[in-house]
Amino acid sequence: MLTNDKLAEWDRENFFHPSTHLAQHARGETPTRVITGGDGVFITDRDGREMLDAFAGLYCVNVGYGRTQIAEAIATQARELAYYHAYLGHGTEASITLSKMVLDRAPANMSRVYFGLGGSDANETNIKLVWYYNNILGRPEKKKIISRWRGYHGSGLMSGSLTGLGLFHAKFDLPMGQVLHTDAPYYLHREDRDQSEAAFSAQCADRLEEMILAEGPDTIAAFIGEPLLATGGIVPPPEGYWEAIQAVLRKYDILMICDEVVTGFGRLGTMFGSDHYGIEADLITIAKGLTSAYAPLSGSIVSERMWKVLEQGTDENGAFGHGWTYSAHPIGAAAGVANLALIDELGLVENAGRQGDYMLRALSDALAGHPHVAEVRGAGLLCAVELAEDTSALRAFDPGRKVVPEIVAAMARRNVIARAMPQSDIIGFAPPLCISAAEIDTVVSVTKDAVREVLG
Ligand code: PLP
Repeated sequence: MLTNDKLAEWDRENFFHPSTHLAQHARGETPTRVITGGDGVFITDRDGREMLDAFAGLYCVNVGYGRTQIAEAIATQARELAYYHAYLGHGTEASITLSKMVLDRAPANMSRVYFGLGGSDANETNIKLVWYYNNILGRPEKKKIISRWRGYHGSGLMSGSLTGLGLFHAKFDLPMGQVLHTDAPYYLHREDRDQSEAAFSAQCADRLEEMILAEGPDTIAAFIGEPLLATGGIVPPPEGYWEAIQAVLRKYDILMICDEVVTGFGRLGTMFGSDHYGIEADLITIAKGLTSAYAPLSGSIVSERMWKVLEQGTDENGAFGHGWTYSAHPIGAAAGVANLALIDELGLVENAGRQGDYMLRALSDALAGHPHVAEVRGAGLLCAVELAEDTSALRAFDPGRKVVPEIVAAMARRNVIARAMPQSDIIGFAPPLCISAAEIDTVVSVTKDAVREVLG
């Protein structure tokens, strides 16, 4: 076994880490943490330290760590058939069964699922489906996509363009030309402090309509949004938001892409976020919770209305020219089948709803009165604590102070992992859906102590 020093040296010299300060890491200014095991909501590192992971990796290990049923399904699939492609009508029992399981759980208007590897490539697929759809319908001008500031849809060329956080655009020449961004439904930061939630939602819908009219409705193909802004700050939509937005989309025949990479398969206490907020989508993006990250797999769920046009397209033009070598990879599919069965068996969707309510209440009770806490919010097992230098004027902390990274580091010293959400003063929580009330109590008391340590 390699020594920790040797691993750290090899890491700094060879490993290009995603979403990392490259220069600091190469200089050894940030630690190399080697994770070796996991069980339930806990992970263990190479030094034998056990930590409660209140962010489920990157909000993806929904069933929790160490589930042998999924490990065994993967091993069995790997022994029987590690790989065969899904082109030209090929499949495996796992990929076909998983398609059926996904459609059985999806909203009623959904018709087929296309499997990819991660959320970013699923959103790349979605935009190609939208463009293909409008070309088949003879509307070659209807191609622009409207996303939202503070939305997160991935890091590819198109998916990174759809993302509405500057960090993912700057110096990468993104966003690309066909992508527009409209207002984030971020009620806490509304301009008019006296505005009601419903009036703010109506304003978001009005601004969307103004954008559509300014660009020309015949040029706008689709709108993409997460049911609840996740990476952009864990911000549930204000009252009436989705109703108002969908009315505008229907008026101008604009497709709705619901990005459920975080919310799919139970995180909000419902199978999909679309069920939770009454969203009727034409495409649904799924990834993370589909396999609980035991193997990489994503999907684009396609509505019946789009599917019919895609079929017409291949009758007119021949085979559908879009595929990945690893589409519907058998090992990912086997992990997905075992994972969705386990979610049902353990009642994790219901647990997410119940424990989510408890967690939000407990975090509010512990922190809402603190002078630097601007808001405690959440839905299901997605919660956030937003901080501010001055909470009445919502004045942010000086970024140089790194207040939230300091709090998250103070939590890590107490063996609890939360996430400093990007470009904000927000502590994010998204534990595995199997978390218990006692484990939530630990997360809440550690958060309270860490906030006190850093902010007094
Ligand atoms: N969409 C949403 C809503 C996400 O939160 C993410 C990742 O966090 C993605 C897409 C991109 O998924 P991936 O990182 O698997 O490419």
